[in-house]
Order: sequence, then C-alpha cells, then structure tokens
Amino acid sequence: MTKASCVLDYAITSGNLNLKILEMELFKDKRSKSLILIAHCIINQNAKSDGTASYGGTITEVMELLNSTGLGIVQMPCPELHCLGLDRSDKLGSTRPVIEENSRIRNEMKQAKSLEKINILIQSLVYQIEEYLKNGFEIKGIIGINRSPSCGVETTSKENKEITGQGIFIKELQKVLAKKDIQIPFAGIKTFEPEEALSTIKKMIGLNELSLQ
Ligand code: SF4
Repeated sequence: MTKASCVLDYAITSGNLNLKILEMELFKDKRSKSLILIAHCIINQNAKSDGTASYGGTITEVMELLNSTGLGIVQMPCPELHCLGLDRSDKLGSTRPVIEENSRIRNEMKQAKSLEKINILIQSLVYQIEEYLKNGFEIKGIIGINRSPSCGVETTSKENKEITGQGIFIKELQKVLAKKDIQIPFAGIKTFEPEEALSTIKKMIGLNELSLQ
C-alpha cells in the first residue's frame, strides 16, 4: 500500500492489461496543508542590511509562535540580498541613519537591473503559491517587514522618511497576485517590535490572545 490512497481498476482488453487510475488522493499524510509565507529575515537575521539585525538568527518570539501553530513556514527570498548583495552595494551603509540608508536602498531596488531580479524571484514564489493553492492547501497570509524599502507592507522608506506604502518587492508581488486573482492577506511587522509582531500574526492566523496562553 502506497502512502497515497489509490483506487485502481484493471481491465483486460485484447489480451493487454490496461491499468486505469480512477482516483488518487494526494497529501493524506501528517502535513497540516496550511501555510504562512514570511520575510526571509524573520528566519535569518544574517541577511539584514549592516547595522539593522536585532537578533542572532531568527526573530525568536515570532518563530516560537509560528512553531506552536502547526503551520508550514515558507521563507520568502531576501530581495535586497539577491539584488544588491549583503552590503547592499555600499560598505558605508551602516554609517548613515537607517531611514536615510533605506531610502538609498529603495532607489537601488528601483533600478532596471534590480527589477529584473525581483521579477525572477516573484515568478518562483508565485509558482509555489499556485502549486499549494491548486492542491487545496490554505495560505494564511504573507508577513513582510514594515519600514523596509523592499518588504514593507503598511509602511516603507522613501526620501529619508518612513511613509505609508509598500516596499518594492511586496508591491510587485501584490501586483502579480492581483493579476492572477489570488487573494492572500498581507501584514507587516517590525523586527524591533516583537509584541506588536505577535499580535499582528495572531490576528492573521485567527488565534486570539487567550488561545495561546
Ligand atoms: S526586510 Fe526584506 S529585504 Fe530586508 S532583510 Fe528582510 S527579507 Fe531582506
């Protein structure tokens, strides 16, 4: 008996054995079939721009919460690492105020070379999203990082200010999903505001404050 549940029908026609698969139900193992997509640096602070990592590895509070839910966690790519490298193409980045450096990074991320790479990353991500949806999985939401020039959902950085709006990567991702009529909730958190982050994520995945205590 294979892991997948199969119902097979055998028919003998003209001396040949024809094997017909009438029904095949996939993914009946232990997986929850429920997922959340999160910004790369929630799992890996090593990808952050110089001077902005708040944890050694993961944002521990967020990962503890997510691990307790049984959701699968899809780590989205870090668009700035892919487009600009770990030093974001300027080794002096950390010598500037964060918002100023973020605004410089935003301008770099808008260049044609960066947009080309972002599109490739988004194609790969959207392919995964479509595969999960096609196979009946639930995607609870997509968590970005507010204030980020790339992954901001409610706020981003522009002209040396934190402003309302999306980062370049999130904006492009939302555009592609909208074109395909795929509706997934988005929310942003900030690395240095773990309590607010937990409350945002609980709301997204439908956990009230009491259910986890
Ligand atoms: S916010 Fe986005 S671009 Fe910035 S480090 Fe995290 S994943 Fe990378």
